[in-house]
Amino acid sequence: MQQTPTAPDAGATAPDPARRFERVGEPILSIRGLKTHFTMDEGVVRAVDGVSFDLHAGEVVGVVGESGCGKSITMKSVLRLVQKPGRIVAGEIIYRRPASGKHKALEVDLAKLPEAGRRIRQIRGGDIALIPQEPMASFSPLHSIGSQIVEAILLHQDVSKREAKEIAIEKLREVGMPSPEQRFDAYSWQLSGGLRQRAIIAMALSCNPAILVADEPTTAIDVTTQAQVLELLKQLQREHGSSIVFITHDLGVIAQLADHVVVMYLGRVMEQGPVHDIFHRPRHPYTRALLQSVPSLHAEPRIQLPTVAGSIPHPLQRPTGCPFHPRCPDAMPGRCDVAMPALYAAPGGSPVACFLHHDHEEADDG
Ligand code: SF4
Repeated sequence: MQQTPTAPDAGATAPDPARRFERVGEPILSIRGLKTHFTMDEGVVRAVDGVSFDLHAGEVVGVVGESGCGKSITMKSVLRLVQKPGRIVAGEIIYRRPASGKHKALEVDLAKLPEAGRRIRQIRGGDIALIPQEPMASFSPLHSIGSQIVEAILLHQDVSKREAKEIAIEKLREVGMPSPEQRFDAYSWQLSGGLRQRAIIAMALSCNPAILVADEPTTAIDVTTQAQVLELLKQLQREHGSSIVFITHDLGVIAQLADHVVVMYLGRVMEQGPVHDIFHRPRHPYTRALLQSVPSLHAEPRIQLPTVAGSIPHPLQRPTGCPFHPRCPDAMPGRCDVAMPALYAAPGGSPVACFLHHDHEEADDG
């Protein structure tokens, strides 16, 4: 085993040192060995290839990686929204809902539910809600945003139409929609990008889900609105203690929001751990490269930022051994290009998939 190189001075916007999340009890969501593959004429794309991580109640887990790393497909698999020819071929997605109010306690493997069945439709939206990347595509242009939020509430809650309308207006108010009573009747195309994103967050919150999945929710909006939407998510998290999986390619966003970070590359988890460890003691060369590509608060704005060297291989041409080895500055020839490092946690440590840190190999069954 090689000596670990010193941690980079990432220069990244560091997470708030006061923010610490202590994981206690059973996770509300446990993903174990999840594999979602796409079978095509040209071959099999292993979009998600053995992903495991947990989300605890009240925690924000940030899933980060370059585009094409499998982070969105992982969460689409959880919501059972993967389109054909994709399908879950292995693994478990255990969702645990504690008993509350009208709800009985529930423990279910979402990976085993029929994907068009009533049960997953109830869980999706009611228990686990998605804030998508592009809110324009989520609202029908033919119906007002209010009527669509009411429809979602009636699908999941036993309330009258009048009560559903009251809940919808309350949720619009909660997300900072100005004049929510009037905006209830607006169409999505009449709203600015920022207000549309607020409306979609109101829709996601309308059934009081246990888990929010935010899929790059600030990608399609301008920088000022991005900051407002992130502030809103932080505020909702503080006030409701929501459990959130936040998907992003931006470690600056992760620093602001996440308690725990999962770093993905080519469908696999490279490293995961508490946000402070990932930022101040990154171990995987890919995490270190990502951190070096994040602008510092104090950086000269005109300086060209380094990016991760090389490019992601074609999905049908996965490298042998460690998937990161063709781009890794620390790759060990004869080792990293031959064997696949397991995602392994030393006692008391966080999991990392790299031979710089352990000798555990995993069978590459692809
Ligand atoms: Fe780099 Fe992968 Fe080898 Fe670790 S196992 S040194 S990430 S090539």
